[in-house]
Amino acid sequence: MAKRPVATVDTICNTIATYYTDAKLDLVHKAYAFADDAHRGQTRSSGDPYMIHPTEVAQSLAELQLDLPSIITGLLHDTVEDTHATLEQIEKDFGKDVAELVDGVTKLSKITFKTSEEKQAENFRKMIMAMAKDIRVILVKLADRLNNMRTLEHLAEAKQKIIAQETLDIYAPIANRLGISWIKIELEDLCLRYLHPDAYYKLAQKIAKKKKERDTYTEDLSDVLIEKLTDYDIKATVAGRAKHFYSVFKKMERRSVDFDQIFDMIAFRIVVDNITECYKSLGVIHATYKPVPGRFKDYIAMPKANGYQSLHTTVIGPNGERVEIQIRTQEMHQVAEGGIAAHWKYKEGKFDTRSRENVAWVNRLLEWNKDLSDPNEFLETVKIDLFAEDVFVFTPSGEVKELSHGSTPLDFAYAIHSDVGNRCIGAKINGKIVPLKQRLKSGDTVEIITSATQTPSKDWLKIARTSRAKAKIRAFIKTQERERARELGKDIMDKILRPYGHTVAKLEKSGELLKASQQLHLRTCEELYVAIGYGRNIPDDVIEIVIPKEARERSVDAAKREDQSFLSRVFTAARKRSTSRNAITVENLDDILIRFGRCCNPLPGESIIGFITRGRGVTVHTASCTKAIDNDQERRVDVKWSAQDLSQVRRVVKIRVLSQDEPGLLAMMSQTISSCGVNIVSANIRTTKDKKAICLFDVQVSDVPQLNKVTGALEGKKGVIAVERVRS
Ligand code: MN
Repeated sequence: MAKRPVATVDTICNTIATYYTDAKLDLVHKAYAFADDAHRGQTRSSGDPYMIHPTEVAQSLAELQLDLPSIITGLLHDTVEDTHATLEQIEKDFGKDVAELVDGVTKLSKITFKTSEEKQAENFRKMIMAMAKDIRVILVKLADRLNNMRTLEHLAEAKQKIIAQETLDIYAPIANRLGISWIKIELEDLCLRYLHPDAYYKLAQKIAKKKKERDTYTEDLSDVLIEKLTDYDIKATVAGRAKHFYSVFKKMERRSVDFDQIFDMIAFRIVVDNITECYKSLGVIHATYKPVPGRFKDYIAMPKANGYQSLHTTVIGPNGERVEIQIRTQEMHQVAEGGIAAHWKYKEGKFDTRSRENVAWVNRLLEWNKDLSDPNEFLETVKIDLFAEDVFVFTPSGEVKELSHGSTPLDFAYAIHSDVGNRCIGAKINGKIVPLKQRLKSGDTVEIITSATQTPSKDWLKIARTSRAKAKIRAFIKTQERERARELGKDIMDKILRPYGHTVAKLEKSGELLKASQQLHLRTCEELYVAIGYGRNIPDDVIEIVIPKEARERSVDAAKREDQSFLSRVFTAARKRSTSRNAITVENLDDILIRFGRCCNPLPGESIIGFITRGRGVTVHTASCTKAIDNDQERRVDVKWSAQDLSQVRRVVKIRVLSQDEPGLLAMMSQTISSCGVNIVSANIRTTKDKKAICLFDVQVSDVPQLNKVTGALEGKKGVIAVERVRS
């Protein structure tokens, strides 16, 4: 990587002057003095004065040709966090715009990506939201990260790896998505250097060794291309440049080929005056060198979501090598290099801040955020979208729709309209009927077949790929299930009231049912029905409130006879009153039926989550159970182990013991388990060919410590190789 001159306040101002002639540069000097004063005495890990960092950040922002508030924010971005400077002071000296940007960057800096999965997802969502609110916050953060990566060598190795991985996971994809290719490339190469130093330095060495050969080749081919284009009166500049390390590294990994086999190390870029010449140049090149089928992409007619435009093609070069060529206009080139930042360019006396609203990607994120309540799903979605290549497909009328890679006709249907999605019964691709799970390819024409009676089903969640479709399907199912629960709950309440000579209709009219609902902390009768339908065991409480005591006692026998069979169908577990009931507390609900997921079989002390299941109360899973993660997050409720009653809990768990196959082992293990005060429900033993024995025990334990005691005791025995808890 080329060494850059050290940035100073003067280099920043000079860079600004190249694109923004009447900028108020005294403000830049003022911001520099402010930051310099605030950071006085502080040093970086390298030992350099701290001020070098914000200066470099501001320099990068000036190179992105951003507006003054962004560049000033670059200078001030660490002052609030690391010094005595306050936001009030910054607002007073530099205005509200800058203060808000600094605040945004400060908040973003507090986000770490090392915490638990869920927290991480939530943090990432915050970051995206900050971006949607004001994209300049992300641009400053990117410049900040760029400088931190450039100076990473001064940190300890463990820290380097963490920061590099985070950069590769989050910041490089964001730079790519925003279309700022030079930042993406530099970040990726730096990540490679710290994450895979061996590969990086080997690559660097090999590239250096072949430099002369490559330079000659590049020069020769550039000359030929210019000559051919000139023959057709096309004025063009041609540049050949080596692909960046990381893309070569990925290519070698993907194709598992050696460096020497990679001919297409160099990509050529042709820049011409206008769009017509782009296509003309393409014709000239294809007439000169044979194009590789399937490698031509027209991003001029169909720009990428980040605004990128170019023609891409790969041809067979003069020596039989593959040559990648990009053709674009000068304006397209600026967007390709600066990406979203190019939209911020200063033109006609002001910065165009509206264009960010036209960036499809940010808009889509905002839209998803409305539909998605689970931060993990949001992260998954955003990850998919950051990494996937997009596909472009057509509606029958020729309109282009852009979808993420792997999308299906169902995604397409939802991209058109949620009603089209909800009623989708089939699809035709290029005139042929296809299954809904068929993956779309760029260039497909997709036609959706709908039916007025169709409704979405849970299976669709497995077919849909885009989060827009998933969110809409989920929303539909949720509404529908709520409606079913409401109907069921109303039905149950009605049946229970009948023996007392009442109906829900009557009690609703008189207002008595509403009063009862509110006493049970439900706002409306509808909410009462839904709660009953979802399995809350509150009908008896309603009866107690609305039916006078005498009337209740008089008809209690009749009532029992009438509703027993019905209720037993609805609340299968209600009559059992298992010990588990008192072991769990569900937030705000003290009358709910509890079951434990058979998949993970939680033990007291483990971290747990609950899901409301229609007609069956709450099912409790361990927090890490995959089945729980797959569950509908809308129905999630907070549950915790109660402080009392745990001693009565006896739960059966399965443990697997791998041991040497020796006589008397089973007796020894049984005795070990019993000596921990634990009851064995069943035992199963089998031997393997290599003289090992696998024992499966079902044991009754009350909590995690007791289980650990058992496994610990077993592990300590001679001949025992491994002990583990098995979740089926
Ligand atoms: Mn910083």
